[in-house]
Amino acid sequence: MLDFVFDAGHGGKDPGAIGPTRKNEADFVLDICLKAGSYVKEQGYTVGYTRTNDKFLELYERANISNSLKPKYFVSFHINSFTDPSVNGLETYCYSKGGAGEILAVNILEELLPVMDIPNRGVKTANFAVLRRTQAPAALLELGFMSNPEQESKLSLETYRNELAIAIAKGCIETLGGNYKEQPVFTPVQETKPNYDYVELQKELNIQGYGKLAIDNIPGPKTLAACPTVRIGARGNITKWIQKRLGISADGIFGEKTKKAVIDFQKTNGLVSDGILGKNTWRKLLGL
Ligand SMILES: [Zn+2]
Repeated sequence: MLDFVFDAGHGGKDPGAIGPTRKNEADFVLDICLKAGSYVKEQGYTVGYTRTNDKFLELYERANISNSLKPKYFVSFHINSFTDPSVNGLETYCYSKGGAGEILAVNILEELLPVMDIPNRGVKTANFAVLRRTQAPAALLELGFMSNPEQESKLSLETYRNELAIAIAKGCIETLGGNYKEQPVFTPVQETKPNYDYVELQKELNIQGYGKLAIDNIPGPKTLAACPTVRIGARGNITKWIQKRLGISADGIFGEKTKKAVIDFQKTNGLVSDGILGKNTWRKLLGL
């Protein structure tokens, strides 16, 4: 018996809702669904999926998969759409009020609202096949409106999809009576050392020809733009700066230990945990 089955809506020949710049619902919900699943698993719970790639499933197949996996809860991931592009908002669905499905729908909605910062359209009931035919208490999420240009562009950001995934994981775990434990591997240096030394980094970026930065100890978009991709095998003063920033011994050689520290930092910050310093990781390192 599983704790959850997560169902990414649409897929394959059915792209779901299509946004103003042609991004589609099926891709976004698959990504959010898999991310949410990995966060839930990280906390020690079990998760199954109706699909883990871009394939088409009938609604009854989704319910059948869930019923054969016998989870405690079922969650279906969707994004709304409407003819008026100005409409946006979050809503979640359950089959009927008063049951465990409603509690799940409420918990996830409440975790998502502060993260999404869009109108609250509330918890609603609907006779959707995936809610009706699933034996487990079930919730269906409509994560904003694809038809809203601002929402489509927010959903295009991996960091945003990550935040949604974490919020959904929290709501799910709370419904099981658990507590989502943040994983405090890394304490931001700013908290203990308010005058963290960015001067050293800015100087080094200039010396190595990555930028022509003002040495002002205030990292901003220009500093971020100058930061190169850094990965295992790198060596030198930029690596040294990264090591100091991560609080590990600073020998200027990017080896396995540095990679592990980067992965820990990425996990703590909800980033893709590949041990490579790309723009998203740099942004968090610079406190932006
Ligand atoms: Zn949908």
